Amino acid sequence: LVSKLPNVGTTIFTQMSQLALETGAINLSQGFPDFDGPQALREAVARHVMEGRNQYSPMTGLPSLRQQVAAKIARSYGVQRDADSEITITPGATEAIFCAVQALIRPGDEAIVLDPCYDSYEPSVELAGGRCVHVPLALPDFAVDWQRLADAITPRTRLIFLNSPHNPSGALLTCTDLDKLAELVRGRDIHVISDEVYEHLIYDGQRHASVLAHEELYQRAFVVSSFGKTYHVTGWKTGYVVAPPALTAELRKIHQYVNFCGVTPLQFALADFMAAHPEHVEELPAFYQAKRDLFCDLLTGSRFTFSRALGTYFQLADYSAIRPDLDDVAMAEWLTREHGVAAIPVSVFYQSAPKEMRLVRFCFAKREETLRQAAEKLSAV
Ligand code: PMP
Ligand code: GLN
Repeated sequence: LVSKLPNVGTTIFTQMSQLALETGAINLSQGFPDFDGPQALREAVARHVMEGRNQYSPMTGLPSLRQQVAAKIARSYGVQRDADSEITITPGATEAIFCAVQALIRPGDEAIVLDPCYDSYEPSVELAGGRCVHVPLALPDFAVDWQRLADAITPRTRLIFLNSPHNPSGALLTCTDLDKLAELVRGRDIHVISDEVYEHLIYDGQRHASVLAHEELYQRAFVVSSFGKTYHVTGWKTGYVVAPPALTAELRKIHQYVNFCGVTPLQFALADFMAAHPEHVEELPAFYQAKRDLFCDLLTGSRFTFSRALGTYFQLADYSAIRPDLDDVAMAEWLTREHGVAAIPVSVFYQSAPKEMRLVRFCFAKREETLRQAAEKLSAV
């Protein structure tokens, strides 16, 4: 067999979690909480399983869950998105991204990604016969370099990926950024996939600038989110995608053959929980900011340097003062093996990372004791 993805290996998330397991290191690498989702949510799944809600759900997702998503969008962003024609429940944000890409990209098309970027975008584009054009975000703040983005657009450009809050940097796009992008693509046949899976993990009183609330951009966009991040249940692999009716119809043609539908009892449970606990998403910023601040405060005396993440549950740390001789892949392995804390190297999110970059990513979606133990080890490095 000639591989369709010759440059793809096992993801860094699998590799580092595996190494953490083998070495007994504290795992701050792959992004997932080491605590459980809300008890009422987990009990609701058990109840729906026992009450026999175990057959296929509608291809578009359970109507009650789509309605809850529409209600949450209205509360969070002040816009009405139609539960029937604009919202589709998918088995994870990853499937939503994959299907949106298949709907948009034809052989020879180009998709622009802003590096560092999440690892599933490029293989999704390549499997559709397209090619990714990589535009680096400007350091040190991981801001969009508008001139470079404008220069990267060609007649073949069909798609631009956005990701805010941004994995791995925690950076945020602003409403001004969205205005600039809208201006850049105006009159062109270019669509947007806006990966907003960390939409509710946002700190220091900032507000998420969602493409859902930017009417002009929304008209050409697929906006993707994940219940996994918002409800601390990454293993449920349940997400959703919001897009105007015509785009949604095209996405559903693909989704119905990639997976057909998401897991039924999980959707029932999420719908119940969202109806009973609308406050959950409002409490998330304070919940995660406390974790970010605990972790950062504890690292303040260490030889790592950092500026606090504005969003997501990831904190970048610069290790130039510790092992400038090691590239970040070697550093992540050294930290795991020698110091008992697993991290993710940032260069893997790039097509070609800046040579001088010395950054690793830590996930702070952890219990207080885990963060304390990890910070103690990291402070001794
Ligand atoms: N996009 C980004 C930026 C992510 O960090 C993740 C988390 N794995 C995903 C998409 C995928 O989300 P899900 O697990 O719901 O597929
Ligand atoms: N999004 C998670 C991260 O960035 C990883 C998900 C995965 O393992 N595919 O760590």
